[in-house]
Amino acid sequence: MIRRRFIAGATCPECGALDKIVRVEDGDMLWMECVACGMRKDLDAEPSVAELPAEGGGSPVVWKSGK
Ligand SMILES: [Zn+2]
Repeated sequence: MIRRRFIAGATCPECGALDKIVRVEDGDMLWMECVACGMRKDLDAEPSVAELPAEGGGSPVVWKSGK
């Protein structure tokens, strides 16, 4: 399923046309397209997996009571 959405105020770097840039989304693919000249530019998709260090990999923390 392809979704197209115009980006308001965007200027094409190739032909300089204003409001001709569409953001196209097709599943996992994401790119920008100029409907005036056909320029196409791949975009980095939003990171779907957060690369956070997994917790709980080390030894369990044992709190020692000082009292
Ligand atoms: Zn263009």
